[in-house]
Amino acid sequence: MKQSLVNLLPPATLAAIWAFWGLAPAAWVEAPLTIIIVGLVTLAFVQAMELLFERHQGWRINGRELATDIFYVAFGYGVIGFLSDTLVNSPLAALKADLGIATPWLADSPFIVQVLVVMLVFELGQYWMHRAMHNWHPLWLTHAPHHHITQLNAMKGFIGNPIELFLISLGVIALLDVDLNALFAAITAGGAIATYAHANVRADPPIWYGFLFTTIRNHSLHHTALSYEDTRCNYGNAVILWDRIFGTYREGESEIVGQDDRRRLSIKEQWLFPFRGWLGRRAAR
Ligand SMILES: [Zn+2]
Ligand SMILES: [Zn+2]
Repeated sequence: MKQSLVNLLPPATLAAIWAFWGLAPAAWVEAPLTIIIVGLVTLAFVQAMELLFERHQGWRINGRELATDIFYVAFGYGVIGFLSDTLVNSPLAALKADLGIATPWLADSPFIVQVLVVMLVFELGQYWMHRAMHNWHPLWLTHAPHHHITQLNAMKGFIGNPIELFLISLGVIALLDVDLNALFAAITAGGAIATYAHANVRADPPIWYGFLFTTIRNHSLHHTALSYEDTRCNYGNAVILWDRIFGTYREGESEIVGQDDRRRLSIKEQWLFPFRGWLGRRAAR
C-alpha cells in the first residue's frame, strides 16, 4: 500500500468509529457489550497493522510482549474499568443528580460537537494528571513502570502500575449531559488515538490530525530513553492540543524508548515499583 494511504489509517479509524456510533441503532448503543467490542476490535486491528506496516524492527511484537499486553488489556477492562465506574463515575452521577448539575446546551448540540467536548474535557484532566506524574516524585513512582517499557506496541497504553492505571482513568465526564452514543464515540475514539500513539505502525497522519491529536511521533518522544528530563513533554494521551496550549509540546520522535538502564520490568516489578525503596530498605535490615 502506498505510504500516503498508510498515513491515513489513524484518521480513517477515527472516522469509522464516529460513523459507527453516529449511525448505530439505539439497541446496539445500549447493549453493554458494544463498547467493549468496539474497543477490542480497534486494538486487534491496530495490532494487525503492526504486522503489515512496521515502523521499527526493534519494536516488533513477540510472544512475551503480546502475552503481557493481553494481560493488561484484560486487567484494564475487568478491574480498572470496574473500579473507576464503582468508585468514581457512579458517585459522580449521583452527585450530579443531587446538586442538579446540568449541561442541557451540550445535550442539544450536534453529535460531533458532543463528542469533541467530551474528548477535550476528559483529556484536560488526563493532561494535568499525567503532567503531575512527571512533576511529583510519589506520583512518578506509580507512572514510571509505563516508561520502563522498552518497545511500543498497540496495547502498550494499558501497561503500568495499577495505582497509576486507576488514577489516569479518573475524569469528570459523568457530570456532563451527553447522548450515550456521543459519550461512547468520545471514549472509543480517544482509545483509538492512544492505541495508534503507542503502536509500531508506520503511519504519520496529516498535519491537522497531529495538531489536535497525539501521534506515535510525539508520544514516542515522550517515551524517550534519553533521560527522565526529556520525557517531560507531550503529555496528552489522545489530545496533544492541551500540550500546545500549556507550553509542553515538543516536536520529534524517538526510536529508543525506556528508562534508566532500559531493563524490561516484569509484571511483579511493575506492581511493586512504587514500594521498591521501602522494600529495599526492609531487605537490608
Ligand atoms: Zn509519562
Ligand atoms: Zn505511553
